[in-house]
Amino acid sequence: MIEARGLTKTYGAKTAVYNLSFTVQPGLITGFVGPNGAGKSTTMRMILGLDEPSSGTVTVGGHPYRKLPNAPRQVGALLDAKAVHGGRSARNHLRCVAQLSGIPQRRVDEVLDVVGLREVAGRRSKGFSLGMGQRLGIAGALLGDPQILLFDEPVNGLDPEGILWIRNLMKKLASEGRTIFVSSHLMSEMALTADHLVVIGRGQLMADMSVRDFINTH
Ligand code: ADP
Ligand code: ADP
Repeated sequence: MIEARGLTKTYGAKTAVYNLSFTVQPGLITGFVGPNGAGKSTTMRMILGLDEPSSGTVTVGGHPYRKLPNAPRQVGALLDAKAVHGGRSARNHLRCVAQLSGIPQRRVDEVLDVVGLREVAGRRSKGFSLGMGQRLGIAGALLGDPQILLFDEPVNGLDPEGILWIRNLMKKLASEGRTIFVSSHLMSEMALTADHLVVIGRGQLMADMSVRDFINTH
């Protein structure tokens, strides 16, 4: 579903991602694990065509993202939580996102239900807790009912209850057959959430294995 081959990204003298190759299998949760600065966000951005690789290739759903037909219906992403919260109500925020992506407005209340925010949808998202903000970001990613989901550090900074909520939501989405690629700097959290792990350090692949194999060998 997602395939990186020799992916490299340099910023001037800085190598953020180096010769990274991995495959994200359909229908599974793949945890993308590495410490802060390892290159996770850079990789996510290249998958989404927001950053150009210096060399190598990455495809999603068989195409480079920018050539993917109907991309918002195929791939949903939660990148930076800060991008979400504004003075608009949560519902209006999602209406705008739907409008921009050509997605029918009826999807707005559907995704509010999925992330459990329907009751507070009339409130300004500025006043939301971090966990609610992340759920709103996930709602935006779900608008197009995509089969492939990319979540960058969705549980970062959340309390245990918020972490559990999002972990269970990801498991539910995967049980519906969706493919999830989720990053975290917390190996312990990804071992509880994911089926498969892609581990990077300093921009390079450190491990690519099932969670079961990881637990048996560590
Ligand atoms: P992670 O998401 O794993 O924390 P990032 O992909 O954000 O890591 O960053 C990887 C490395 O690339 C870091 O050293 C970071 O400082 C660097 N980096 C990321 N984006 C840029 C940029 N736009 N310009 C320069 N360096 C960058
Ligand atoms: P519907 O008759 O409800 O549109 P479809 O077979 O067209 O059913 O769509 C199947 C799924 O895709 C549904 O979950 C629907 O919500 C979603 N969907 C349909 N059309 C769109 C669209 N234009 N944008 C995003 N999601 C859509």
